Amino acid sequence: MFKRVAGTKDILPAQVSIWQSLEAISREVFNLYNYKEIRPPLLEESGLFNRSLGETAEIVQKQMFLVKKGEDEFALRPEATASIVRAYIENNLDKLQSFSKLYYIGPMFRLERPQKGRLRQFHHIGCEAIGSKDPYVDVEVVSLANTLLARFFIDEYTLHINSLGCPQDKKKFADFLRASLKGKVARLCEDCQARYERNVFRILDCKNEPCRAVIKALGLNNEHLCKECAQHFEVVKAGLGELGVTYEVSPLLVRGLDYYTGTVFEFKHKSLESQQDALGAGGRYDTLSRELGGPDKGACGFAFGIERLLLVCKEEKIAPAVKPLVFLILLGDQARQKGAKVLNDLRSHGIAADTDYESKSLKGAMRKANDFNARFVAILGEDELRKETISLKDMQSGQQREVGINEITQIISNSGPMVDGR
Ligand code: AMP
Repeated sequence: MFKRVAGTKDILPAQVSIWQSLEAISREVFNLYNYKEIRPPLLEESGLFNRSLGETAEIVQKQMFLVKKGEDEFALRPEATASIVRAYIENNLDKLQSFSKLYYIGPMFRLERPQKGRLRQFHHIGCEAIGSKDPYVDVEVVSLANTLLARFFIDEYTLHINSLGCPQDKKKFADFLRASLKGKVARLCEDCQARYERNVFRILDCKNEPCRAVIKALGLNNEHLCKECAQHFEVVKAGLGELGVTYEVSPLLVRGLDYYTGTVFEFKHKSLESQQDALGAGGRYDTLSRELGGPDKGACGFAFGIERLLLVCKEEKIAPAVKPLVFLILLGDQARQKGAKVLNDLRSHGIAADTDYESKSLKGAMRKANDFNARFVAILGEDELRKETISLKDMQSGQQREVGINEITQIISNSGPMVDGR
């Protein structure tokens, strides 16, 4: 028997409704902020990610699902920002609308060691605002993310923010880190020793205690920022304060991808394990469009991991209302024939309706109706057929009556919340 691939999940019908709720709430909030949905492909040239995330990024080094075909190498997308900027450039979105606010919901793939909250196929809800370097875009993006968490009824999280500054500031910061860590490399873990040369920023988010102690002693406090970047960061912080968004400035927050510049942020949740406590993260990436051969456009975005949101959201508060169902029990072949038409009528009037295709007995069919929590049970047997009626039981009031077979749709339509407003 085949099994699903480790680190992937079947999202079964019983769980799908909560996924749909999260997605519907997200779409509604994105619409409020005037973001438009974009659906880039799941497959890209692997070079896109190498170039955007950086050759030394952990995702590129270890986590890409690669497919080789002749000379070509493709990757299942490990994240969507690079794809969206590629799509923005390739489809000339900058010419249609120089500032594009885009959102996406969909699967991402990373070849990780699977564990709770860390999967090989997981899902992002995210957005990208491409085309402006205005600090108030950062404020909007961060507060949008904050609004989403509120709408998912998630609390007990902390928002950490920092600024990496412009590319020159980042270089200054990296040089400063290397110089300050020079005599201390031997005290770092093996991974961090390799990071010292390849990607010194990653040492800052190492979870090993000895590395953390070394880093803490450096007393980092954003001194690497030039005047302009420091000013940008001040406006972002003040803007968030104005909106009542609570945050902590975390000088150690750097994000491990090359494309980040300026503001970076991360939402962490108290009840998640420390290795996987980030609900979502994002930041500015002002050089990525140029890096990928596009126009010089500032941009900012974030992504939440849906599986992690589901670990902490209040499902009962966001679960969608279940659409009431009419369950039709058909006894005998003639009733089954007539019943197909009744079902069709109900459905074409926007009423959810189903019947039993399995059990031959009334008792078995009633059990099914119960399993589905049907709002109405309608029985059509030989007797009713002769009289051209149907017995209709309202499962809420317990009231049972016989109605004309041609009236049932009308009666149910008039009985309350059975029909969608369409
Ligand atoms: P990242 O692009 O790594 O910053 O990821 C953004 C968010 O996606 C994280 O904060 C997590 O919520 C989620 N995420 C990232 N990687 C995984 C994974 N392997 N499994 C589940 N969720 C993930």
